[in-house]
Amino acid sequence: MKVLTVSPEVFPFKKTGGLADVAGTLPLALKKEGVDARIVMPGHKGISAHMKYVTDFAVDMNMFKETAIIKEGRSGDVPIYFICNHRYFDRDVLYGYGDDAERYTFFSNAVVRMVEEGVFVPDVIHCNDWQSALIPALLKLGPKTSPDTDRPATVFTIHNLAYQGNFTPGSLVLTKLPGSLYNMDGLEFYGQMSFLKAGILFADKISTVSPTYAQEMQTPQYGERMDGVLRKRAQDIYGILNGIDPSVWDPFTDKNIPHNFDAKGFKGKEADKKDLQHEAGLPETRDPLIGMVTRLTDQKGLNIFMPAVEEMLKMGAQIVILGAGDDHYQNALRALSVKHPGLKVFLKYDEGLAHRIYAGSDFFLMPSKYEPCGLSQMICFRYGTIPIVRETGGLADSVKDLSKDPQKGSGFVFLNYDPAELKACVGRALDFYKDRKALDDVRVRCMGLDFSWAASARKYILLYEKALKG
Ligand code: ADP
Repeated sequence: MKVLTVSPEVFPFKKTGGLADVAGTLPLALKKEGVDARIVMPGHKGISAHMKYVTDFAVDMNMFKETAIIKEGRSGDVPIYFICNHRYFDRDVLYGYGDDAERYTFFSNAVVRMVEEGVFVPDVIHCNDWQSALIPALLKLGPKTSPDTDRPATVFTIHNLAYQGNFTPGSLVLTKLPGSLYNMDGLEFYGQMSFLKAGILFADKISTVSPTYAQEMQTPQYGERMDGVLRKRAQDIYGILNGIDPSVWDPFTDKNIPHNFDAKGFKGKEADKKDLQHEAGLPETRDPLIGMVTRLTDQKGLNIFMPAVEEMLKMGAQIVILGAGDDHYQNALRALSVKHPGLKVFLKYDEGLAHRIYAGSDFFLMPSKYEPCGLSQMICFRYGTIPIVRETGGLADSVKDLSKDPQKGSGFVFLNYDPAELKACVGRALDFYKDRKALDDVRVRCMGLDFSWAASARKYILLYEKALKG
């Protein structure tokens, strides 16, 4: 099977979020399963990779033509194509420009053209997020359509429904898709033209990054106004959990943490906790330590955390937070940490400190409002740190509640988005902490959980097979 993954960002070349991790790691895991996996992304400014020229061609932008230069590099043993164009991609950041619709229309058309030119002819094109969502529509309805049996099958993955790529109606002209598509059952979305809708309506199969989010996004509560469109495709929507790279997140080899350890004993973990307390200026006691590494936004549950935090400290927890984000949360947290010696906040992005928090904490808190997948809960498992999470999206799919199932549980889970439920859940975790033997048993259990990419890659292959049959 030949699969081309299309993404606007790919780790390690360019990354602004989890999408880059998926687009960079999944193809490597597919390759190990015997797939001829390749990647294509824009040749953004500042990518340092060995690239060789492959070809170039003009992309018809309706009123004018723009040149796409195709270069090829490698990510491990996976070939990666870069679509280069000075005017569109030689920029400091990836998104947020007035001509984003034009830039990613060009990108999508160039990918289709690259396939037509035979640079790589995949069985399946796997598109990710709105920046490549036009591709399924272009293959079906674009100017050079071929019979359905001749075109590659398409899978469209939504990583976060909040990002939809909605632009002025005139944006449709550039795509060269039929103007008749601008209606409620087509690409029109509340007076705008929506790239995301193109992916949802025209991809052979749709996926998102957890089974629970696949259901949630079809409801008004989580649907970001796309739930109606998604429900129309309910039969074709799948949820596949993302994975993490267990070699990056390994307490036995991690160079970012002062004391390495494995599931055979937690002396190293205890020493990491002491060091973390020291680094954070927290009292170096045996009190339970709760860590958070997060964007400081509503999505991550900050507006139920803020009213609950003082109570949690009163219950005897220490809390250390590493995060950057909304100013009002930063200011409120800064003010609280001045008042409470048991709370420390680091308002920045810091990879090394993130590792030290995963390793040195007893619990890891994720009270998310919604969470398409979430990686931090999988990461903290690796370090024997027990997650406390809200039952939503990927958190619901990866953390089993210890209160409901002490034999198989892996964390503490609460359902409703409510500060009182959060407090009660933290209370259960703090009670549990008193039983050292039970705590260590659960740590060992968490460390044995497998959230690597291999299992997810096999699920994607099954999905590609379904797309091909469809
Ligand atoms: P999202 O992609 O929605 O922010 P995820 O849980 O999927 O949430 O992934 C977040 C990733 O970013 C994790 O690997 C987490 O450790 C990391 N991260 C988040 N904030 C910070 C920060 N301030 N410093 C270091 N790493 C961070």
